[in-house]
Amino acid sequence: MLKGQVAVVTGGSRGIGRAIVRKLAENGADVAILYAGNQKAAEETCTLLQGFSVRCGAYRCDVADFDATKKTVNEILKDFGKIDILVNNAGITRDGSIATMKEQDFDDVIRTNLKGSFHMIRNCCRHFLHQRSGRIINISSVAGLSGNVGQANYSSAKAGLIGLTKTVARELAGRGITCNAIAPGFIDTDMTRGMNEKARDAVVASIPMKRAGKPEDVANLAAFLAGDGAAYITGEVIRVDGGLCI
Ligand code: NDP
Repeated sequence: MLKGQVAVVTGGSRGIGRAIVRKLAENGADVAILYAGNQKAAEETCTLLQGFSVRCGAYRCDVADFDATKKTVNEILKDFGKIDILVNNAGITRDGSIATMKEQDFDDVIRTNLKGSFHMIRNCCRHFLHQRSGRIINISSVAGLSGNVGQANYSSAKAGLIGLTKTVARELAGRGITCNAIAPGFIDTDMTRGMNEKARDAVVASIPMKRAGKPEDVANLAAFLAGDGAAYITGEVIRVDGGLCI
């Protein structure tokens, strides 16, 4: 279904990103993974793709650094020849109450989660325009739709990402490029495993489907948005949250 296509997935080494990489590869896409520092996890992800007969490349690149993303996108274009799908998934949390949140924690989350996505879109966009095709998928969050206590920085970044998604969708639609956002709810990854058990149980109890989401629940939608079936969908924000934010 995605045979011959090249996907770039930021934060593709672990969690939701890894599941997206796996699903895209299962559908035939070659994949370039960007990761922050955990080389072992990135290599493991590439190893997981053996058997799918696709290419996988892992690139250490801090998405918050514009020059680094520019260099990496150029490297990927050199290595793979083109880019068809960009998934902006890299993200971090630095939770804290608004009354005590450090400025640095606000800035770090905005720089990685929001600016990082801008950097990648900015650096891939000329190639997409030239190619007259491209799929951009931004991983936002239900926190960007509804807010979340203790996540002023994260909610701001994820809400910003929705604005970015809609603007990019409008600007690039005429050239056959789509841009959509996925808003996951509570997904079982390293990011949420850090929570204490009581808080975790309380969140799960508040989800109508009574379970945490799996990374694959998000990956299935990402693969759909990257495929032919989603050619006429752009500027959309789709929740994958088991009903959490109905
Ligand atoms: P994880 O913490 O499990 O994985 C984060 C990934 O992002 C890793 O691959 C990490 O690389 C990479 N990364 C972090 N910072 C950077 C950076 N500056 N540059 C490049 N790569 C970076 O996160 P999840 O899988 O849980 O989350 C993935 C996305 O989904 C995030 O955007 C998150 O906000 C969003 N999301 C998650 C939810 C959840 O419940 N888990 C809910 C809603 C949204 P490395 O391994 O090298 O550190």
